[in-house]
Amino acid sequence: MQIYADNAATTRMSRTAIDAMLPYMEEIYGNPSSLYSIGQRAKEALEQARSDIAAVIGADPREITFTSGGSEADNQALLSAATLGKKQGKLHIVSSAFEHHAVLHALKRLESEGFEVTLLPVHENGIVDVREMEAALREDTCLVTIMTANNEIGTLQPVREIGAVCRAHGVPFHTDAVQAVGHLPIDVKADNIDLLSASAHKFHGPKGVGFLFARRGVRLTNLIEGGAQERGKRAGTENVSGIMAMAAALKEAAAGMAENAARMTALRDRLIAGLSEIPHSALNGDAVRRLPGNVNFCFEGIEGESLLLLLDDKGISASSGSACTSGSLDPSHVLLAIGRVHDVAHGSLRLSLGEDATEEEVDYIIRSVREIVEYLRGFSPVWRDLQSGKTPFIL
Ligand SMILES: *Cc1c(COP(=O)(O)O)cnc(C)c1O
Repeated sequence: MQIYADNAATTRMSRTAIDAMLPYMEEIYGNPSSLYSIGQRAKEALEQARSDIAAVIGADPREITFTSGGSEADNQALLSAATLGKKQGKLHIVSSAFEHHAVLHALKRLESEGFEVTLLPVHENGIVDVREMEAALREDTCLVTIMTANNEIGTLQPVREIGAVCRAHGVPFHTDAVQAVGHLPIDVKADNIDLLSASAHKFHGPKGVGFLFARRGVRLTNLIEGGAQERGKRAGTENVSGIMAMAAALKEAAAGMAENAARMTALRDRLIAGLSEIPHSALNGDAVRRLPGNVNFCFEGIEGESLLLLLDDKGISASSGSACTSGSLDPSHVLLAIGRVHDVAHGSLRLSLGEDATEEEVDYIIRSVREIVEYLRGFSPVWRDLQSGKTPFIL
């Protein structure tokens, strides 16, 4: 059996998305800035895509700026708010300890430029406390940036409440919604969002394209200077075919969202129940307030990397920690943020199901993980010490 269970890392492009991009590579390949008809047809298509995308999140088309993906959108959102803050003498930013590195590393850079950053704790359940967030606000806070859904443990943040508090205090609110857009309903107005990042390849669109929503009145600062594309806010000839595919993928995702979420939630819970039966294991993050397809476990006494390799032998693609940090010896900053100690965090497994997942596949994953965990523990010195009582079990 071949099972792709790493949809939080990236997704397979949908047929609809692929079909939507081909005409813009083969026929309507004109530069949208050109005045002749194949350029203008590309331009019209681009604006239609902008409207379609805006409609899915309740935005105005003029509030959508196309980017090269989630990382660029995150960076531009943070830079824009920081630039505005600096002008007003406000150099304080509130965020959370388990943001994506596109946010955390951009914050590091801002710190080196004189900004002060408060990283809120995310607690054992992986959820920010709104009262703690409000208490962290200061007179000189120029931005609150908190993700909608975490990419490793899938936990959902109280975005609407956070947005309402920010609104009441007049502080701009950015959310990295890369894991949520196309999977869960988002309404930027009702959710009180000023800036939002999204990426096409997380909802069955192509890699290398995404968008930044910026509420009217929130002034963007350029990351990329050059031509006047994107109302002068993001230079560079537009990725027309990619943008067309992104819009098609998002419309398709929005149309099937409620049904997909319900089916995936049931499969997710079946997977969680099955893996919970493995002794000395624990689910990471809240059991209910999490993405429909996300399952993340720690198994004591094993190494996540070995587990991944053996799962791959069984045809299962999954991840441990986050794709971006694998290759480094440090355990995931997300698992540390929810209080997992190093040894336990090293034995983590993330399974992110796709919309086409089946019960049969979930049961195969459960059987395979059980088998492999038992096998690995069989010759793990760490497990031997735990079993003999030399070191105490944590899970
Ligand atoms: C994938 C991801 C990103 C980065 O998006 P890219 O399009 O790959 O640059 C940012 N934030 C979150 C939460 C993600 O899951």
